[in-house]
Amino acid sequence: MKDIFTEILEAIKHESRRGYGDTSVFGGFYSFVGNKLGKNEYPHKEELLELLRGYSDSSLVRRKDIMAKAEVLVTVMAAAEAHKESQAAVEQDLPPLPGDPPALQYVKGVGPKRVGFLKRLGIENVNDLLEYYPKRHEDRRQVTEIAYLNQGENAVIKGYIKKVESQRLKKNLTITKAFIQDSTGYITAVWFNQVWVKDQLKTDGEIVAYGRSDFRYGKRQFMVTEFAVAQDQPGFGILPIYALTESLNQKTMRSIIHNALAMEEGKVGEFLPEAIRHKYNLAGREWAMNHYHFPDTLEELKEARRRVVFDELFLLRLGSDLEKGGDIHAGISQAQGTIADFESLLPYTLTKAQRRAVEEIYGDMAADTRMMRLLEGDVGSGKTAVAAAAVFRTWKSGYQCALMAPTEILATQHYNSLSQLFQGTSLNVALLTGSTTAAQKKEIYRALAHGEIDLLVGTHALVQGKTIFKNLATVVIDEQHRFGVGQREKLAAKGSSTDTLILTATPIPRTLAMTVFADLSLSILDEMPPGRQVVKTIILNPKEESRALNFIKSQAQAGFQSYIVCPLVEESEELDLASATDLYHRLSREAFRDTNVGLIHGKMKTEEKNEVMEKFRANEISVLVSNTVIEVGVDVPNATVMLIRDAHRFGLAQLHQMRGRIGRGKAQSYCVLEYGGRGETAKRRMEVMAKYSDGFKIAEEDLAIRGPGDFFGTRQHGLAELKVADLYVDNEILAAAAGFASSLLKENPHLEGDQWRLLRYILKTRRRMF
Ligand code: ADP
Ligand code: MG
Repeated sequence: MKDIFTEILEAIKHESRRGYGDTSVFGGFYSFVGNKLGKNEYPHKEELLELLRGYSDSSLVRRKDIMAKAEVLVTVMAAAEAHKESQAAVEQDLPPLPGDPPALQYVKGVGPKRVGFLKRLGIENVNDLLEYYPKRHEDRRQVTEIAYLNQGENAVIKGYIKKVESQRLKKNLTITKAFIQDSTGYITAVWFNQVWVKDQLKTDGEIVAYGRSDFRYGKRQFMVTEFAVAQDQPGFGILPIYALTESLNQKTMRSIIHNALAMEEGKVGEFLPEAIRHKYNLAGREWAMNHYHFPDTLEELKEARRRVVFDELFLLRLGSDLEKGGDIHAGISQAQGTIADFESLLPYTLTKAQRRAVEEIYGDMAADTRMMRLLEGDVGSGKTAVAAAAVFRTWKSGYQCALMAPTEILATQHYNSLSQLFQGTSLNVALLTGSTTAAQKKEIYRALAHGEIDLLVGTHALVQGKTIFKNLATVVIDEQHRFGVGQREKLAAKGSSTDTLILTATPIPRTLAMTVFADLSLSILDEMPPGRQVVKTIILNPKEESRALNFIKSQAQAGFQSYIVCPLVEESEELDLASATDLYHRLSREAFRDTNVGLIHGKMKTEEKNEVMEKFRANEISVLVSNTVIEVGVDVPNATVMLIRDAHRFGLAQLHQMRGRIGRGKAQSYCVLEYGGRGETAKRRMEVMAKYSDGFKIAEEDLAIRGPGDFFGTRQHGLAELKVADLYVDNEILAAAAGFASSLLKENPHLEGDQWRLLRYILKTRRRMF
């Protein structure tokens, strides 16, 4: 039986669609609702009837207003009723709360080793695992005929295996090849370092393979990332693609998550009453969880995603609203260190935007509540100087600061530039990272506790237990989207009601940021420092790569440096490494025989990476080949060229970030986007890069190309808290979730009642927001 509130809500919806003529229910709204509610007692019943009494005689504007108010009242009544019912049903014994989530080793297929791998991804228990949602999905139901494969694009092929051979080329390089034939032609399929593959490939057997076709050394090849051979295997459906690191592949992760879902069947729990789900058109929580990982159709994927996104935003908003509180805060006096004092340390003057941001920050610092400010500025807009101004005043007032960066390379870079900036003062800067020696660490801990260090720069090593500050007052966090909430919180907790400044290059429009982080203030650097010249962006066919290489060589001869980026294939690190290492060797042997070439890739140890970066910074390396996105934030002004291979395989936001690594000095800089695909969308995206240099504009164009319904696209924006939601694409769900969160909290600020028990529990056990 449909409950009466659902019926009334449906009638209201209907009425609004029909233009408020009081024609959607028989006998008019007043008597319809009166009849439905009958003689029963409900809270707000009189209020609702009173509201509806004059409905048919009211003006159109007033009627619209009445319906909106009625909808809110009915939703509240429905929630109260559901609450009453649930209480009546359980009387004394409420269902048990989920309790601590099961440990990972209870999942089938997860042994001690895999527990370790999962933990490295931040997955601590089965809950985390179930909420480790795919980065994106790939529709692999469509098979491409071999003759119609597009070079450089991912595709599924299906055919018969003709000849199989395996060759060991080097100590750690084995190549397995198979000729695959379909009715349109044949292609050589290639596997790297997967010796076991050979035994699965039976001559004349059928194979379905997913991979990328490439043109190498004059031959067409198909680099396989996944395949299935058995006759009864269904091939591929819509597959989840997870963000993974080494040691766990997509197939394994899929089966682990599949097993975890089976294990938790019926236990996921629902925290939204049915009326609310109905109102916002939301699927059940467990259904959504299952189908967001493993949808059968695109419609299912879309429906599941809607619920997952809603929850993410709803919980985020509730969390941040509940956290809102008046921490009392020491207050750093306005009298200490003026902006002019700070500016006299700089080799340049602040831009108007930088000055405005510093004023806002100084205002926050003087106030008696804790600062929570997001500083948003495009790459190169000069966020570091603004952060330094915050450090300056904190120091002048006799307090300590911490600056946390996501990688060692970035932390070291900040350390170097800030040490230099404060050289003429007595402000004492120290660096703490994973490679700081034990003896150095000991000394840092001592000096920190005694207040002899004024600014500690570092990586997440900063949040470890041993760093005890004498009086930490300000925390700066750079490129925050790489940190989890937990780390940020831990660092802030090292002082009492610490002022927090978060730096981000993610272009989130102000209105969106305000909706998600209701309690976060925002400063925007909407202006570039003067004299910055625009990077020239060129689109190049891969066949003409030698032209770009010649150009790089001539730049090197003129003393300038270049980056060459090979794209990261998240499904196969083997392939990645092969392509970057391969290119590096080829270049050092051939085109760049007389040039210093360096290689940096994701699998290197931190020290190795640091060493290469230091050499690059010192111009001992002229050309840096990389298989990983060059660190966000790396600042080497002498680099003037960035060549990006297969550029269409990166997101626009990523391309923009990478391009931001050049054009930092006085010389003209060039970004070369190599792209040989035929896709219309890819072409348009490349053109956007060539035409615009403003991050906001690029984000906007990107959305226009992708279209709001495109959930196969890589998620381009967002913050660490939002794993699935995309602030651009999901603004409708975002508004609904934020709206419902505020009205719920207004009605019931402490989420009292058994109906919200699970929700309270989830909010309490989730890691804290800010
Ligand atoms: P991002 O916002 O990307 O972190 P940085 O803080 O690294 O940018 O600044 C980029 C470059 O611009 C640095 O080399 C910095 O010294 C320089 N810079 C910052 N502010 C100004 C300014 N007002 N005038 C001139 N150069 C500036
Ligand atoms: Mg920066």
